[in-house]
Amino acid sequence: MRRLVLLAALCSAFASPAMSQSVTNTAPWDRPFLPPAPEWAGASRALLRDATDPWVTAFEADPAHDFSPDYAGTRAWFDRLDAASDLIRIEQFGISPEGRPIYAVIASKDGAAFDPSKPVLLAQAGIHPGEIDGKDAGMMLLRDIAFNGKDGLLDRVNLILIPILSVDGHERASPYSRPNQRGPRIQGWRNTATNQNLNRDYMKLDQAEMQAVRGLIVKYRPDLYVDIHVTDGMDYQYDVTYGFNGEDGVWSRSPATAEWLTNTFKPAMNAALEGQGHIPGELVFGIDDQNPRAGLSDGGLGERFSNGWGSAAHVPTILIENHSLKPYEQRVLGTYVFLEQTMKTLAAQGRDLRAAIAADSALRPAEIPANFEPDPTPIATRAFKGILYETYDSPASGRREIRWLGRADPEPWSLPFYGSRPTLTLRRPEAYWVPATYPELIRRLRIHGVEMETLTAPRTVPVEMLRLEDPKVAPRTNEGHVAVTVTEVTPERRDWTYPVGSVRIPTDQPLGDVVVLLLEPQSSESFFAWGLMPEVLNRVEYIEGYAIAPLAEAMMAADPALKAAFEAKLAADPAFAADGDARLQWFYERTPFYDDRYRLYPVGREI
Ligand SMILES: [Zn+2]
Repeated sequence: MRRLVLLAALCSAFASPAMSQSVTNTAPWDRPFLPPAPEWAGASRALLRDATDPWVTAFEADPAHDFSPDYAGTRAWFDRLDAASDLIRIEQFGISPEGRPIYAVIASKDGAAFDPSKPVLLAQAGIHPGEIDGKDAGMMLLRDIAFNGKDGLLDRVNLILIPILSVDGHERASPYSRPNQRGPRIQGWRNTATNQNLNRDYMKLDQAEMQAVRGLIVKYRPDLYVDIHVTDGMDYQYDVTYGFNGEDGVWSRSPATAEWLTNTFKPAMNAALEGQGHIPGELVFGIDDQNPRAGLSDGGLGERFSNGWGSAAHVPTILIENHSLKPYEQRVLGTYVFLEQTMKTLAAQGRDLRAAIAADSALRPAEIPANFEPDPTPIATRAFKGILYETYDSPASGRREIRWLGRADPEPWSLPFYGSRPTLTLRRPEAYWVPATYPELIRRLRIHGVEMETLTAPRTVPVEMLRLEDPKVAPRTNEGHVAVTVTEVTPERRDWTYPVGSVRIPTDQPLGDVVVLLLEPQSSESFFAWGLMPEVLNRVEYIEGYAIAPLAEAMMAADPALKAAFEAKLAADPAFAADGDARLQWFYERTPFYDDRYRLYPVGREI
C-alpha cells in the first residue's frame, strides 16, 4: 500500500485544470478552458468513504475525487481485497501486447463454479482507458459487497468486473489524454500500445485484448454486458447516458432483449439514478457541432461496436456514456448507482431476461440487414434537457463558435432524432465452407464461439461461390487494415474440394447472424471488408500480345457467335475499341488459360 500512497502523491503533483484556477503563470492548457459544469450535490455522495476507512479507494482518498489509480495500484488494491474476502477472486483472462496481465474481479457466493441459475453481470471498464469511471465505481461497489453490508446483491446474481480492459493504453497516462473530459486529472490513452481502438474490434477480433475478453464471455456467458465509456461531443444536462440497439422499439437483431431493456431495465434504472441525484439520459449524439438544436442521432448500430455486436450475438449489451463535462466524482458515483441497480434488476427480473435471450437466440432470419448508415429522415422527436449556450466570433476559427454556459435550460428542447437504416440485405445460406488455407479466419471464428465441423478427410461439395465484380481498395488505412468494399457479386455454382482442416459452419446456430456478417464479402463488418483477404484481388499469370493476338484471331474464325459479340462490344464501347490491350484481354478472359480463381471469393456457400 506504500506504493499506492506514493503514486497518489506523485500524481497530485501534476497540474490540474480544476485546481489551478489561481495560478496565472501556467501554460494555457494547464488553466481551465472547458465550459463550466452545473453545480451538483447528489445523494450518491453518501456512498463515499473517507480516508479513515481501511478500504478507502484511491479515488475516494483524493480530496478532489479527481484521481484514478494506475494499473499497479489498482491491482494491489484488488489483490488485498481478494485476500481479505471469500466473496472476491481475481481471474486473469489475457495478456496485453506489452505483457500486462488482463484480469477480472469476480464477486460470487458460489465458490469455484457459478450456480447456473443465477444471472451473470459482466461490467467492463477501460476499453477506452481515459474513460475509466467504471474502474473506480467498481472498486467501491466490490468493497461494499465485501465489507459494508451489500453482499446480499450476490444472493441471486454473480458479478464479473473488468476494471481495466485496455491495460497498455491505461498506462500511457498523462493530464493531456482527453481534452474534452473533466477528470480524472491523469488519464489513459484511447488506443492500445498497437494504436488500435478496441471498440471497433468486436467482429474482426484482431487484438489480444478483444480475443481475451471474448474468451471470458464465451466461458461465463453473461446475461448482461455493460461497456462503460465517457462521451465526447455536445453539452447537455444528463450525466449518465446509456443505450442499446433496439431501444424504444427501433429494429434490432435481438428484439425480445431490446424490449426487456426498454420496458423492464430502463424504468428501474432511471428511477434509481434520479433517486440518487443523477440525470439519466438516452445515448444520443448531436448531428451538428455548430448547431446543438439540429438534431440527435443514434450513433450507428454497427457490429464493430460492443452494442452492435451484442445485438447480433444475442448477448444483451448496454453502452454507458457518462458525460465528459461532468466532474469525475459525479460520473463515478453515477456509475456505482448504475452497477448496483443493474444487479438488483437482474436479481428481480433476470428470469425474464433469460427467456428473452432464448427467444432471440432461436431466431433464424432468412434475410439479414447489414451496412447501416445514418437515416436522412428523422424517426422521432425527442424531449431533451439542454444546456444554455451562446455563440461568439472566434479569432482562432474565424467563425461563430459555441460557448456552453454550464446552466440548465429551463425550457425543454424538442429535437429530431435520426436513426440508422440498412443499405444491404444478405441471404442466410445453410452453411459456409471456409477452406483450411484460411487458418486465421477459422481461428477467429472459434474465438467468437462459433460452432463448426472440421474436415478430417478432403471432401468435394457443391457450393455457391461469389465472383467479386468491383472491389475497391480504400485510399487510407483504418485500424491497421486497408479496407476493401465490393458492392457487386456474381454467384457461380462449383464443386469444390476442401482439404483437411477446412470447416463447415452451419448458420443454424445462435451466432448464425454473426457468421453471415463476418463471411459475406459485401458486409462492411466482414473479414474481407476489413482487408483480411486482399490476396483474392491478385492476378499473377498473363499472356503476351504476340501469343494472344493470333489466338484471338483463330477464336473468332472458329466461333461466329464470339466474333459477333466482340464486334458488338467494339461498336458499343469506343474506349474499348481504341484500347488494343483491353481488346486482347477480352479474348484472354475467354480462354482456359485465364485464372478462374481471380476475384473468386474463397468462402463457399451451401444453399
Ligand atoms: Zn469510449
